[in-house]
Amino acid sequence: MLVIRAVEDLPNRGIKKGDEFQLYIVDAHHHMGREKGHKNTPSGAYDFYAQLWFEMQKKSETLLNEEHLLFEPIGLAAPKLATKLFQSRPNWARVDHGWLVDRTIVFPYTDDYSIPSSKGEPSFKVSNDKIWSWTTRAPHSSRLIGFARVNPLDGSLDGNLIAVKELDRSVFSLGLRGLKLHPLAQLFVDSIDKNEPREVVKRAGELGIPVIFDTRNIRTVVRIKRLVDSMRNDPDCGAAIKGLRVILAHCGMTPGDSRLYEALKDPLIFAETSTLHDKDVPVLFESAYERLGASPINWSEKILFGTDFSFLSVQAMDVILYLLSRDFPGTLADAQRVLAGNALSLVQSPYRTTMGSSEPPIELICKDESFTIQHDLEDQIIKLLTGGIWDLGSLDFMIPPLGTWPEPSCISKGGFNGVDMESYVLSLKSKEKSKEMHFWIRRRPDSLLSCTVLSTQGMTRLETLENASQKLGQVLLKSISDHSQTYQSSREMESEVLKLLS
Ligand SMILES: [Zn+2]
Repeated sequence: MLVIRAVEDLPNRGIKKGDEFQLYIVDAHHHMGREKGHKNTPSGAYDFYAQLWFEMQKKSETLLNEEHLLFEPIGLAAPKLATKLFQSRPNWARVDHGWLVDRTIVFPYTDDYSIPSSKGEPSFKVSNDKIWSWTTRAPHSSRLIGFARVNPLDGSLDGNLIAVKELDRSVFSLGLRGLKLHPLAQLFVDSIDKNEPREVVKRAGELGIPVIFDTRNIRTVVRIKRLVDSMRNDPDCGAAIKGLRVILAHCGMTPGDSRLYEALKDPLIFAETSTLHDKDVPVLFESAYERLGASPINWSEKILFGTDFSFLSVQAMDVILYLLSRDFPGTLADAQRVLAGNALSLVQSPYRTTMGSSEPPIELICKDESFTIQHDLEDQIIKLLTGGIWDLGSLDFMIPPLGTWPEPSCISKGGFNGVDMESYVLSLKSKEKSKEMHFWIRRRPDSLLSCTVLSTQGMTRLETLENASQKLGQVLLKSISDHSQTYQSSREMESEVLKLLS
């Protein structure tokens, strides 16, 4: 998280000079693997964020002297549970840095592993396996979110598209949570809205995962918009449209073009900021504010921060520093949505695979006024992860439903920025791949701590990280309350929880 301090009073926003805030940051565009001169792994990502922070501090000094900044970046803070996990083993503690960025959406390059080894095998199979191995194991699973990549033009096998099969495998077996498509690298720029590419996007919609498209010009943006429109008008795509969300990486590299904003008026289309730097950055945000401001959607819910590391590097700081500047037309809540909220809302559900079973949930509740029981339980779970039978598929904090992201409160008043670091879901998977569960910790009214063990499949699985009863669904909530037990003694509850996890 980035810690910032107001450089002057902002009475119309209720902010005083010296007030400090912490902004959670998600990088929505990041590559891992190997492609020609490019090579990146989790530790490479964290090193890059450390470098980005170093460069940002230097640049912010100049900007402060020129009185450009309204908020001064003053430090970094790691989410407590994530850093506690990293600190639990010496070799993990060595990579416990770079906390300018809290979460990273990771996908393959067009890399050395992407070429199929035999006929009928999908492109990117090995690349997707590598993304899985980096993003769904402790400790990196607390920071990284893996997306798959496929080549729609891989052809068919037994009447099925090879790319669709690979996408299914990536989601069902690997638990990857989104899809990256690159029309230029995989040579389907002219057929984005037709045939195989359309089938792949349709499948992603049915699976309910977001699709991020590389877009380097406005023609590609227009074609993607046409694709979404044609699916919307196709009765065959009803299920796909329900789950479809499309992200235009690089904003089409044309932040001033009105056609970009015509696309963004579509409720299913979003844009990501990587490659934009220098003068592009104000053009993007001012245009979005002006052109989307009048539409019913909030303009700042349409833009996601991304770096495109390792193709690009420290120019990403231009976006962050602009959000802290006097020129940015939005509030801190708008900045927080761009920096993290929108990406988290699009990813939405925690890691799971078809390894999970379908059983009713079990909830255990206990009074926990001083958070001692919660912190104790966290220590116990980390112990299970470092030594025991469990691995961590993901750690996801609960978020407010889209459209309700709050204005961040200053650190002296709790520092809440929308990401609820006291309520979260741990995806636990057994190391011998026989069991998988969601362990959901929630703070409930009256200082109650609730721990729920959930199956990752079936009717009573957790579909969303949005913390609101109307989003969670009646079936799930009813089933939880039917299987809920309140404990008077913390020791009794803790031992019950550990029994469920053993
Ligand atoms: Zn990229």
